[in-house]
Amino acid sequence: MQRFLGKEAPRYTSYPSAHHFGAMPATAYQKALRSLRADQSVGLYLHVPFCEQMCYFCGCNTHITKRYSPVSTYVESLVREIHMVGESLSFRPKVHSIHFGGGSPGILSPEDMAEVFDALKSFFSIEPSAEISIELDPRRITPTKAESYAAMGFNRVSLGVQDTNAAVQRAINRVQPIELIQASVDLLRSHGLQSIGIDLIYGLPLQTSESLSVTLEEVRCLEPARISAFSYAHVPWMKKHQTLIDSDTLPTTEDKADFFLLLDQKLRDQGYRSIGIDHFALPDDGLSRALDNHTLRRNFMGYTDQPNDRLIAFGASAISELDDGIFQNIPQSTTYQNTVNKGGLPTSRGWLFEGEDALRKTIIAELMCYFEVDIGNILIDHELPFSYLDGELDQLGEFVASGLVSVQNRKVTFHSPLKMLVRSVASVFDRYATESSGDHRYSKVA
Ligand code: SF4
Repeated sequence: MQRFLGKEAPRYTSYPSAHHFGAMPATAYQKALRSLRADQSVGLYLHVPFCEQMCYFCGCNTHITKRYSPVSTYVESLVREIHMVGESLSFRPKVHSIHFGGGSPGILSPEDMAEVFDALKSFFSIEPSAEISIELDPRRITPTKAESYAAMGFNRVSLGVQDTNAAVQRAINRVQPIELIQASVDLLRSHGLQSIGIDLIYGLPLQTSESLSVTLEEVRCLEPARISAFSYAHVPWMKKHQTLIDSDTLPTTEDKADFFLLLDQKLRDQGYRSIGIDHFALPDDGLSRALDNHTLRRNFMGYTDQPNDRLIAFGASAISELDDGIFQNIPQSTTYQNTVNKGGLPTSRGWLFEGEDALRKTIIAELMCYFEVDIGNILIDHELPFSYLDGELDQLGEFVASGLVSVQNRKVTFHSPLKMLVRSVASVFDRYATESSGDHRYSKVA
């Protein structure tokens, strides 16, 4: 298995992966918005690219600010974009979920958050059962904000914990003792926000199997419904602030694989079910039910139990997905705001679905969600001959020989406990993925 660990492959939060997006006119996005039908619900995503302090491991699109004025100026643009998108629609689509991500969406004042909600409610019909979620930084949750989240209808929170070890926290510039995290969880729960997820990262500087075991025990006491455990991607040539991490203190690729196995075993021992390559959920959580019902999906935010892939996203760098294709906003916050403030939709890149995209997207999604795919059945659904993908099945030979994968009657089954390796297997069915030429097109799978 070891030889597969250092390989690069897309994360498949979309197909095709964002690396393949090309220039996209706003008119194409408007056309896709107008193609929505009244019986099709959508998810909404809002990106808030501001934080008060830089975590050295950060891979997100964010800006550090100590002042609130850039945030409130950004919110004005966000609300303008909501109006522009809403005016492109011919009816008020039903909304099954709303997610605020970042950055630190918790930086928004309750008043600005309410303004965003008011704009959304003007153009969208938010279903009473909608999941309304937000990523929060435990260090920045105040009683006033917790109360406002509950009043605005938030019903799911993801807390960025990463690791509870003090030395690791200092090394990543994110000091938040477990007592502080526990107090934040208690505060949220006291306002009725019961469904709390915890985000962890493995492969951080100074992390060891022992420290990770303690982190997992401490996190257990928080009683999260879900846990995500992402692999740290050290890419200082792309993210300059990561140079502030002493690379000598980073675990090796083999260490990271061991950390994942430890995480996976301990969390399953604690009663969590393993979901996809990096999520864990209690048996009564929606992700577990989606796994059982075969309705689990992978999207730009990870794994989801939402009913479809249609997502309308707002904010700098935000990515929408509709039946016609994928549409990404301008990533730079200032250019995004200038464009919106001049009355233009900020679409800049994307992909219009064509040819075999739906076929290959289905195969890759099955592998990423269920680690098994019946290629023959999918070919029948797409009215294609059984032998259509036999060339790709032949390319699985290296994985089959190593025991990573088995193929029987065109049914591909992934067997390794190192679940992240399924990305490499999925890439065999990716028409657009080509081997990295050394310029680090994709992240390493471990
Ligand atoms: S809070 Fe999140 S988005 Fe902000 S710097 Fe830290 S990791 Fe990055």
